[in-house]
Amino acid sequence: MNIIIGNALKQGRNILSEMESKQLIKEIGIQTTEMKLATSKEEAVKFSEETGYPVVLKVASFDITHKSDAGGVKVGLKNGAEVSRAYEEILVSALKYNPKASVQGVTVQNMVKPGVEVIIGMTQDPQFGPVIMFGLGGVFVEILKDVSFKVVPLNRRDAHSMIKEIKGYRLLQGYRGQKPVDIDYLENILLKLSDFVDKNPSIKEIDLNPIFAYPDGASVVDARMVLN
Ligand code: ADP
Ligand code: MG
Repeated sequence: MNIIIGNALKQGRNILSEMESKQLIKEIGIQTTEMKLATSKEEAVKFSEETGYPVVLKVASFDITHKSDAGGVKVGLKNGAEVSRAYEEILVSALKYNPKASVQGVTVQNMVKPGVEVIIGMTQDPQFGPVIMFGLGGVFVEILKDVSFKVVPLNRRDAHSMIKEIKGYRLLQGYRGQKPVDIDYLENILLKLSDFVDKNPSIKEIDLNPIFAYPDGASVVDARMVLN
């Protein structure tokens, strides 16, 4: 069994942190942010300097699923003073949001450049087993439910048609002078994820939301996994 998954199970946890989830994503060869867990303001500044500005700070707590709702995400921090302030603000608002939350600290990650937001997920269907989902991020998934599904394991054609099937496909092809995004790379993410869940039956849910898609590659900006 994978060490990260094994560790969580040993600790009696069925949720993997953003950091653990991104580590797994990285292990299977998908581009994501670099991140470190800071447990003091000073450490957050040190990690930010090592990472290089601008950075993003996020609350790290197994009791907080939607970090932004808790005031737990600060993007575009440009210097040590901003990082120090963000660190304190995040802890204050996270504990106000959920006074019972146990907080591990605050993660420091590099700020990635904006791209077209897409989401990829995995859930277990009682009948079909693991199913992979693809969609455009933001309002497209929340309001328009513009998503496609396929049962694991996926082949290249499945991955390709999942992406083409969504109504917002044209947004990925480039419109109004925007360059098209790297569809091949998105297909590769779907295939790598399919292979990963096939080999790791202890994974119950995956949520990569958002992924920023670029004309060249893509980057997983937020990740969450749940174990059985
Ligand atoms: P939540 O738990 O609220 O979903 P996210 O980690 O998705 O938190 O962060 C919220 C938003 O902040 C993202 O949708 C994205 O727009 C932005 N964001 C988060 N991390 C980064 C990053 N490393 N680089 C650039 N933008 C980011
Ligand atoms: Mg998110």
